[in-house]
Order: sequence, then C-alpha cells, then structure tokens
Amino acid sequence: MIIIASLYVSPLLSPHPYQRLLYNSSFRHVLLVDFFNRINLIYGTVSDYCTEESCPTMSGGPRFEYLWADGVKYKKPTPLPAPRYVNLLMDWVESQINNETLFPVMTDVPFPKTFIQLCRKILARLFRVFVHVYIHHFDRIVAIGAEPHVNTCYKHFYYFVREFDLVNQKELEPLKEMTSRICRDASPVSAR
Ligand SMILES: [Zn+2]
Repeated sequence: MIIIASLYVSPLLSPHPYQRLLYNSSFRHVLLVDFFNRINLIYGTVSDYCTEESCPTMSGGPRFEYLWADGVKYKKPTPLPAPRYVNLLMDWVESQINNETLFPVMTDVPFPKTFIQLCRKILARLFRVFVHVYIHHFDRIVAIGAEPHVNTCYKHFYYFVREFDLVNQKELEPLKEMTSRICRDASPVSAR
C-alpha cells in the first residue's frame, strides 16, 4: 500500500524528466515483482483445484481462451491446460524480472529501450491469471475468505496499469464487468 501511495506522489516531486523516467522505471520494476509475488500467492490458493481435468484450457469463461507461446519451446500459440499454462507463465515472468539485462539492479545502468514494451507484456500475462482465478475459481477464493485480499490486489493492479496505460482494453475485456463493480471510482481505460 505504501508503494502504491509513493508511486503517485514521487514522479511529481522529481524535477528532471530523465530522472523521473528512470525513477519510474525502477519503481515499476519493484511493483512488477510485488504483483508477481502476490498473484503467485493468489494462484497458489486455488492451484489444488485447478487441474488438467477441471481446467483443460486456459480460459476466462466461454468467450476467452489463451494460447501459450514463448518463442523457445512453444514457437506457435499453443492451447494448454490452465495449470500448465499458469506454471509456464509464472516461470517466464520470474525469468524476465530476474534478468539484470532487462531490469538492471545498478542505478547507473539504464533500463533498456524495450523496458516499457516488456512491462506491458508481463502485466498483460499476469492479468490472465486474475481472469482465470476470478472466472473459474472464485468459489474457492470466497470459501477460504480471501476475497477481500484478492480484490484489493486486483484493484492495485488495475489502477496501476490504467494509470500508465500498460495493458490495453482488449486484454482487460474479460473482467470488464467485475472491474466496473469493484473499481467504481475508475474511469474507463481509453481504447487503444
Ligand atoms: Zn483452473
């Protein structure tokens, strides 16, 4: 919560645009790691119920199905059972955020030009875990009393990606109705 609060204040306090960008980039990395950890925990609470039998596809209801491609083992978009998809997704995100070429830890090493593009990809993929959990495993979330925690995490995620326009409207579509309910004070994301 402190991180989110700081995020909105700090860029305004930084006078130099380059410093501001660098500062934001570092900060965005911290937030990415935080979101990754939290979403990993959330999925962990339903993973016993997300099996190849219960979830033979990585779907978000009947209208949305995600195909996995990583350019290495899966060169073409491939349908996979949800647990395999999520495991590959989380492993991929972890490898990206721990890659010091992509996310330099030294303050004198600039973030690569592809940084924002990579942030977008990571966040769009993490969003798919929210989609699957909310649409297919929400009963489990409610049963263990984790609903407020998941909703809070989702709200932070949503406000963050909206603030910096990091996930496009099409990706957000599967949770559009739920988002309008739990993020009542959020204005619609501009279509891109
Ligand atoms: Zn599942």
